[in-house]
Amino acid sequence: MSANRGKLAIHGGNPVRDTYLSYGKQWISMQDIEAVVQTLQSPFLTQGPRLKEFEEAVADKVGAKYAVAFSNGTAALHGACYAAGITAGDEVITTPMTFAASANCVRYCGGTVVFADIRPDTYNIDSQKIRSLITPRTRAIIPVDFTGQPAELSEIMEIAREYNLLVIEDAAHSLGASYKGKRVGSIADMTMLSFHPVKHITTGEGGIITTNSKDLYNKLLLFRSHGITREASYMHKQSEGPWYYEMVDLGYNYRMTDLQAALGRSQIEKLDEFVNRRRQIVSEYNQRFANNPFIKIPYQLDGCDSSWHIYVIQLNLENLVVGRKEIFEALIAENIGVNVHYIPVHLHPYYQNLGYKRGIAPTSEWLYERILTLPLFPAMIDQDVEDVIAGVEKVLSYYG
Ligand SMILES: *Cc1c(COP(=O)(O)O)cnc(C)c1O
Repeated sequence: MSANRGKLAIHGGNPVRDTYLSYGKQWISMQDIEAVVQTLQSPFLTQGPRLKEFEEAVADKVGAKYAVAFSNGTAALHGACYAAGITAGDEVITTPMTFAASANCVRYCGGTVVFADIRPDTYNIDSQKIRSLITPRTRAIIPVDFTGQPAELSEIMEIAREYNLLVIEDAAHSLGASYKGKRVGSIADMTMLSFHPVKHITTGEGGIITTNSKDLYNKLLLFRSHGITREASYMHKQSEGPWYYEMVDLGYNYRMTDLQAALGRSQIEKLDEFVNRRRQIVSEYNQRFANNPFIKIPYQLDGCDSSWHIYVIQLNLENLVVGRKEIFEALIAENIGVNVHYIPVHLHPYYQNLGYKRGIAPTSEWLYERILTLPLFPAMIDQDVEDVIAGVEKVLSYYG
């Protein structure tokens, strides 16, 4: 390391790179752009042929019978909670180590969120803890495949069958992942995928629920579009004519546009390529950080084939003279766009005001103090990867 590179950028030295590298970013090709432009010139801007094609392509890709696209992943989770029949007083178990939407969807339906703490190795919900939190009011479990590594789905599905619960897998991080040889999206009762630009493929905003259940599928369709149906079997009265439809329940307008679907249809062609590149980068990070005394690299369970949405390191704070905040700020100054995933959901003021106490999920709370997300997205070039490694080594060796 040259002398001018040795001085931290936050102390006036040269950063390891000249331009800011974000932690995640979409990859849009000319083919993607053309697909959207063609749709703009077509008769359908919302819910047309591209939507159906996209839903079928996703269902096919993950090995599910049905897929229902939504305006975003959070709306899709709301739809899944509706389809699961969650109402006031029902309890749903999820992890605190996630984005707020995994819990908020339960609240939208008036349900009560019950947080089960995570495993200290995978950072995924601890299936042993789930069992102890089940009550007669429990209706569903929402495991999150944190960072792209599937949660313990065998154990979770087994618990769910034993207690007659539904499993809604939050797979916002894990499109393209598999678990014991099965593709994520084909395992849980319902699986949610998100197409936000930092996720594996994007539609701008967008989400989807995949399921093998015809009944859940129909409920999702109803919910996505105002609770309105034209299907005779769902109508309360006989049709009054060709114009006739019924609003049979309170639904929303959570539809995905055909513009979004056209982008998604084009993007999913490249999913395997995207996931492979993510795995390559992770393999490089793992090799280079494995023996770093300041870092604990991500741990993977046997049988879990992660699709790597994010790369989360654990800082060995015991070996460092400063905390995560100083390291975070020093890396940003080096133009390395680090992030923190996540602030445990129950610590947010909204949930604190509902009465959730600090201390209910000690492993998540402990972990939160020492995690750092490093940049990871398929469009990263090898030099970007080298810059991240150089930046992390520079900052940690300084504070070590
Ligand atoms: C991104 C994300 C969501 C929500 O998806 P949106 O499409 O942004 O609404 C939900 N859960 C997790 C874990 C996520 O990362």
